[in-house]
Amino acid sequence: MVRVRFAPSPTGFLHVGGLRTALYNYLLARRHGGKFLLRIEDTDRSRLEPKAVPNILENLCWAGIYPDEGVGCEPEGDHGPYVQSQRLDIYRRYAHQLMEKGLAYRCFATTEELAAMRASHGGHGGYDRRYRDLPVAEAEARKDEPHVIRMKVPDGETFEIDDLVRGVVRFDSSQVDDQVLVKTDGFPTYHLAAVVDDHEMEITHVIRGEEWLTSTPKHLLLYRFFGWQPPRFAHLSLVVNAQGKKLSKRDGDVSVDAYREQGYLPAGLINFLALLGWSNGDNRELWSLEDMEKVFALERVQSSPAVFDFDKLRHINQQHLFAMDEASIADLLPPWFEKAAVAMPERAYLERVVALMKQRCTLLGDFVEQARYFYLDPESYDEATVKKRWKADSAELVQAYQSRLEGLPEWQAAALEATLRQLCEEKGLGAAALIHPVRLALSG
Ligand code: GLU
Repeated sequence: MVRVRFAPSPTGFLHVGGLRTALYNYLLARRHGGKFLLRIEDTDRSRLEPKAVPNILENLCWAGIYPDEGVGCEPEGDHGPYVQSQRLDIYRRYAHQLMEKGLAYRCFATTEELAAMRASHGGHGGYDRRYRDLPVAEAEARKDEPHVIRMKVPDGETFEIDDLVRGVVRFDSSQVDDQVLVKTDGFPTYHLAAVVDDHEMEITHVIRGEEWLTSTPKHLLLYRFFGWQPPRFAHLSLVVNAQGKKLSKRDGDVSVDAYREQGYLPAGLINFLALLGWSNGDNRELWSLEDMEKVFALERVQSSPAVFDFDKLRHINQQHLFAMDEASIADLLPPWFEKAAVAMPERAYLERVVALMKQRCTLLGDFVEQARYFYLDPESYDEATVKKRWKADSAELVQAYQSRLEGLPEWQAAALEATLRQLCEEKGLGAAALIHPVRLALSG
């Protein structure tokens, strides 16, 4: 059975790139009738953000890709606990297992020693392995001194990753450092914890950001050390801006919250994020989550960087809005009225406004902001239009039109227009003499 996981570190709010990673994991699980797990990787104690986990859960829920197992599930599942800080004994046990096998060792290097090693640019990622051959008895005797546990990376090997997105990627073992597995504070590093958990949680496919590709040789080595079968790996390309640089706050919003607050639909954002690197081999642009679940394949995920195109996001969102019926859109609008401090109109009226405005709105808030004059009398009038269109006789004309409209048995667009044209004809005026002032009066 396919078992995949989204394993965020709770260091901040959910990022759109993170949501894409979660989405691809979710889609693979759905496609193969598998399970999508949520695991929290909180071993870096210095970067914890207490609001991160609730934020991640809330946004996954909003996006419609809630986990099947793990944090947030009730019950969580039988591979727990799913929060790494609650699994410290497990990691310690495995780290000791590696030391007993001679595949890991205690390292007593101080911060100053390490800095000096890095400055001298030695091999092995800046650590000269100076404690690697310390006799075991000596290391054991010093085990109450501050130290870390490192893995023993063999020399002269080529590590090969058969990545589902990138194909075969090779690393020379001299590029790989004797990775710290357990830190001075007794917490495991991400590397040890992730490998142990992926094994214990029976993960079949690890789908994650490209930034973890260079760590994968260490992970594969750990699987070998433990004698475990590694999962398949799929490293997703970076999300970049139009200049090809990693997407950052400077380019625009990067948190999922920001897009929710702007009034994007979950369906629109999810569709857009899916296409950041995946396509079904055709040019189809509009996808529902359900449709993607039926066809998603990692083989169709591209390895080239995915450009975050804000215009395309707006366009896709607009199409999803347009495809929705009036009632469903109206259901989503109360918070937007509240936000704009505009009183909600009656439901039937609102649905008619939505029907009229649907093809012009891109975001949910547009149904309030761009349609204000349907709900409120104008508070101001466009100066330039007033100057150009509001003549000495305009007020009188508009009033005359109003009384005629009051006499109409039914308000249909055609009848309103015929009435307007007739009145102008009677006065010997062109229709524009009334159309513009009426529009000004109604909409400002
Ligand atoms: N905790 C890592 C992160 O937040 C996850 C890496 C992985 O999926 O293995 O990026």
